[in-house]
Amino acid sequence: MPWTGARDRGRAAIGAAIAAVCIFAVLLARAEFSVWVLLAGLVAVALAWLWPSASSREDRREGKPPATPPLLPSASVFPDPVILVDRRLVVTGANEAARAILPGLKERQPLAFALRSPEILDAIPAVAASGEPARVEVPGRSGHEQTWEVRIRRLASGGATTLGEPAVALFFRDLTDHRRLETMRVDFIANVSHELRTPLASLSGFIDTLKGPARDDPKARERFLDIMQVQAQRMTRLIDDLLQLSRVELKEHVPPTSLVDLGQTVAHMVEVMAPLARERGVELALDLPAEPILILGDRDELLRLVENLVENAIKYGGPGKAVEIVVGRSSAAGSEGERVELSVRDHGPGIPPEHLPRLTERFYRVDVAESRTQGGTGLGLAIVKHIVGRHRGRLAIESTPGQGATFRALFPPAP
Ligand code: ADP
Repeated sequence: MPWTGARDRGRAAIGAAIAAVCIFAVLLARAEFSVWVLLAGLVAVALAWLWPSASSREDRREGKPPATPPLLPSASVFPDPVILVDRRLVVTGANEAARAILPGLKERQPLAFALRSPEILDAIPAVAASGEPARVEVPGRSGHEQTWEVRIRRLASGGATTLGEPAVALFFRDLTDHRRLETMRVDFIANVSHELRTPLASLSGFIDTLKGPARDDPKARERFLDIMQVQAQRMTRLIDDLLQLSRVELKEHVPPTSLVDLGQTVAHMVEVMAPLARERGVELALDLPAEPILILGDRDELLRLVENLVENAIKYGGPGKAVEIVVGRSSAAGSEGERVELSVRDHGPGIPPEHLPRLTERFYRVDVAESRTQGGTGLGLAIVKHIVGRHRGRLAIESTPGQGATFRALFPPAP
């Protein structure tokens, strides 16, 4: 049992009673005797205060290790770690979440034995003394990527507690996901700004040239206007893809409910892409089953998905090669069960394996210059991933460098 506040108060009462008896004796006794009585009284009071409680003496005799902090009565209402300490930074309580992140946490042991963060340890006495709450951020034990926010508050009675009584509470909150999202947001804005700045700089450079040195040069003017048009189209594509991405992300948690024939949707988009394929000398080979292949889907999104995959295969597969597009049913091994599958296969240079896991990240490209030359924005596969996700499907990318790449979108069939 810890030294509780009630136990301390009990001992104080005993001490006070002994002191009162002694003073009474002094008043009644002779002068020399009264000095001895006074001394005995003082010793009794000191012993009453300093003598450890019976239970803690027992603990010590039996060599018991310090107990694990008891669960706070309201532990279940705190999903995040909470630790209580007395004003000397000795642990008086903790919840399960706190023990999970600090396995070394022991009751009646200094907090510093389990938590070696000078920021937190320095802040606690200041909070206990002033009552002014504090907030610190510390890295987690699992590495610098993890961040904890610790809010330190003095308890209501914290200003006047005895040792062993909880005086200060520490509330922990894991900020890792929050920080990661923040970093993603900042990176995203930096990427968008960079992607827009390049064509904008080029446009304003050509405008200056057209207003100045090339003003009276019709040939140069034609050439510059062509380049400006390409740059403007690039910005338009980027903005279209950004809008598309944000629309898909917004709807991602609402599964589509319309019945869509995937085969017919793919056939329509392949027709739309035929001129581009012809222009690049690529043959599009489409393989569809005779019967409709129905899934619960959003037709517009599925058209975008097919467009992105087929366009990539045409762009990166290289001229003179075929692109095979197949729609069918696959009974995948394992728990996945029957799936409706769209696969787009090209015979281009393929993708080195180290890039495969990151291909669906926004703005991730294997070769930035090649993507720009092809008019890419780096957002196509991110859009595809979100569309597949909204349709409760899965995107699989397989590639052997030198032997092309296969992108497969697998969907649950319509019930
Ligand atoms: P982009 O607009 O650059 O094409 P995507 O998100 O569609 O952006 O694709 C990301 C990157 O993945 C591309 O820049 C390219 O490097 C690579 N990639 C996509 N499809 C293929 C493919 N069929 N063959 C080889 N590389 C590909």
